[in-house]
Amino acid sequence: MADHPKPATLRPSTVTVHAGRPPHEPDQPLNVPITMASTYVGGGDKEYGRYTNDAWVAFEDTLGALEGGKALAFASGQAATGALLDLVGHDSVVVAGQSYLGTIGQLADRESRGRVKTRLVDVTDTDAVVKALDEDTALLWLESPTNPGMEVADLPALIAAAHEVGARVVVDNTFATPILQRPLELGADIVLHSATKYLAGHSDVIMGAVVVGDPSLWDVLKSRRDLYGAIPGPFEAWLALRGLRTLALRIERASANAAELARRLETHPVVTDVRYPGLGAVVSIVLPTPEQADLLTHGTLLWVHATSLGGVESTFERRRRWKGEGREVPEGLVRLSVGIEDVEDLWADLEAGLDRAAAAG
Ligand SMILES: *Cc1c(COP(=O)(O)O)cnc(C)c1O
Repeated sequence: MADHPKPATLRPSTVTVHAGRPPHEPDQPLNVPITMASTYVGGGDKEYGRYTNDAWVAFEDTLGALEGGKALAFASGQAATGALLDLVGHDSVVVAGQSYLGTIGQLADRESRGRVKTRLVDVTDTDAVVKALDEDTALLWLESPTNPGMEVADLPALIAAAHEVGARVVVDNTFATPILQRPLELGADIVLHSATKYLAGHSDVIMGAVVVGDPSLWDVLKSRRDLYGAIPGPFEAWLALRGLRTLALRIERASANAAELARRLETHPVVTDVRYPGLGAVVSIVLPTPEQADLLTHGTLLWVHATSLGGVESTFERRRRWKGEGREVPEGLVRLSVGIEDVEDLWADLEAGLDRAAAAG
């Protein structure tokens, strides 16, 4: 394959389609087949189904090429998070910005068992994050845009500050995806994905992944995955890769829809705040009361009331219906995951719901 261009020299939408394929040789399938195998005939490189599977490797090669590092697939985003927090020694500090509730939950669980110390910071306040970093800090955990506040962090500045105190930096890139943001290029050490969301993109699979720049760190994480067994199923990895093939198109369309809806939402009288960071396909809006927000999320035809995000279909939910959601999140905040439908149909359905919510105010 020496005469083929290397994925790293290709642009992201080409990489999403072409990486992780069998060689262009007669009778090779275009896609890596699903190999349902708990074990392999002994004496080769594979040996056992907990160690490797062709569908994982194809997914990992594709995601790694997109993020500019070496990827490792996990059973879920949460399993990937657990593997990364396991890198942190006793009494080390994790400085974490606004993060997924499950991330905060794992940190709190570990803290309650004396495994780690957590410092929560506001990533929009760069100076405050820099002040929270010290020589005890093992890990800086960042998400940008934040969820559900949709604020943007100064990633290069925060990454540089963490490196100055010798801390590793994880960026959860689930919301932006490598189409819009490549944290390893900004200096981050590790990228985390809930592949459940945009990478797989069809609301039908739970999977996670990490991508690292340092191959020796990959070796550590791989040997722990072998040992602890937080592996995806072959079918899940195959589905996630199938979804990943259209990532660039989906992000392009969903982002264009989101930007247009954000613009129109600004003009609706019942919407008191619109939070759209100018990239991606998640928009948060605030309605005056939780009742009005519930009326919106329970009365639409196309928009589905559901948690999660990143599917082809548009979904939304009032975030404070979750007991663990931060108190700083307004009761009437609705997070929209904008899909790839026709924007006029999405707006008509949304506007009708907002009008009903306005009438109930
Ligand atoms: C969903 C999500 C996770 C957790 O991933 P799962 O695949 O649900 O385990 C982590 N981070 C972010 C930003 C998420 O949205």
